[in-house]
Amino acid sequence: MIQRDYLIIGGGIGGGSVCEGIRQHDKKGSVTLVGGETFHPYKRWMLSKHFLRDKIPPSKKLPCMDERWYDTQKIEVRLGTVVTQFNIDRRLAVLGNGETIEFKKACLAMGSRPVRPQVAGFGLGNVIYLRTIRDALALREMSQSEKMIVVVGGGLLACEAAASLRQSKVKVAMMHRHPGLLNRYLDPETSAWVTEQFAKQGVTLLLDSSLNGFEGKTVLRNIQTKSGERVPAGVAVVACGSEPNLDIVRNTPLSGPHGSPVSDYLETEEKGIYAVGDLAFYPDRLLGGMRRQTHWENAREQGLVAGANITGKKRQRYEQIPYFWTEMFDLRLDFVGDFNVAPARVQLSGAYARSRFVLRYYQGEKLRGIVLCHHSANDVEAAKTELRQALGK
Ligand SMILES: Cc1cc2nc3c(=O)[nH]c(=O)nc-3n(C[C@H](O)[C@H](O)[C@H](O)COP(=O)(O)OP(=O)(O)OC[C@H]3O[C@@H](n4cnc5c(N)ncnc54)[C@H](O)[C@@H]3O)c2cc1C
Repeated sequence: MIQRDYLIIGGGIGGGSVCEGIRQHDKKGSVTLVGGETFHPYKRWMLSKHFLRDKIPPSKKLPCMDERWYDTQKIEVRLGTVVTQFNIDRRLAVLGNGETIEFKKACLAMGSRPVRPQVAGFGLGNVIYLRTIRDALALREMSQSEKMIVVVGGGLLACEAAASLRQSKVKVAMMHRHPGLLNRYLDPETSAWVTEQFAKQGVTLLLDSSLNGFEGKTVLRNIQTKSGERVPAGVAVVACGSEPNLDIVRNTPLSGPHGSPVSDYLETEEKGIYAVGDLAFYPDRLLGGMRRQTHWENAREQGLVAGANITGKKRQRYEQIPYFWTEMFDLRLDFVGDFNVAPARVQLSGAYARSRFVLRYYQGEKLRGIVLCHHSANDVEAAKTELRQALGK
């Protein structure tokens, strides 16, 4: 049986960062990183942006760091391998190939997967759920010969994919059940402005339209809306949210309805077992309440904190203002704070017409979120400081 001091499950940015955090504090402990994909941790966020548009090969620009780092740090990386069973009491993990790893401490970093709407034809060929390099390569390939691609959804991923495909000169339609794009994050006026930008770029908008099903024998032919409309499409990109990959810990305290519950230190209720990134349901010490984020910087920072804590040589709380960004056409939006609740009041500085503005979202008198359009990294840092100060932290 293989024995390890640390077992990291999931080879995304969260898992990769846990390895970095460990090696900052423990140079010798034995570490194994098990990842279901065949790539070392890579910049997943690029898949809907440059990677889709610019047709760059996977080895270029995508890796988070030089693969040799893992060798020099004596971190064993098992790619294309999944953990199929995780025994908390015996501290054992069984891999897809039948091997067993006995570990002292572990970190769950299995991330999330796209939600597959339970409608007819959701598994047809040419219905793409964009999550991995393989999905993006398939979409790239299909987009070269396809006349019309329908993107289902109106959130961040849907907007990014639609914009990149449109920039690659493909005809694109977006089907969204709400009248405005990015409505989950933006106030109605700004959402309407973003929607207008998409229309100006030639994206056909099927708004207020709910998905009823995908039609076709083996590959997609039409998409059906609940109101009975049939939209011809050879490819659909479905971006209707994500759910945490918690199958291996289902029905244990490591899995809850909102993710894997962890403490301020990102430790689960099982001592020595941590959880980070898209699947961690953590206490937000700055904005209050419990939160699960599915954004890059959160997974990166949580990985570093959990990596340090798991060694037992550090005891650090995770205390970051939530942050994410998005890029679509020539728009760059940065989101600082909490966007789960619609703002009661919005303060706009700047102008939509110049595509350069800042929005401050308030709940009562309390500042809860800041959106920056076309601002610098320094401005984003200043917004984080402003929000911290407003929260009195
Ligand atoms: C196309 C796209 C664009 C995005 N753009 C942005 C953006 O612009 N800004 C932003 O802030 N965020 C963005 N995100 C979100 C961001 O990429 C995620 O929040 C981040 O990747 C989460 O990291 P993670 O390590 O928690 O999980 P993941 O990146 O999902 O990695 C988890 C890994 O674990 C593996 N795994 C799962 N189960 C097992 C198992 N049982 N055994 C072994 N391995 C397993 C998976 O195969 C996967 O490789 C984007 C996401 C996507 C899909």
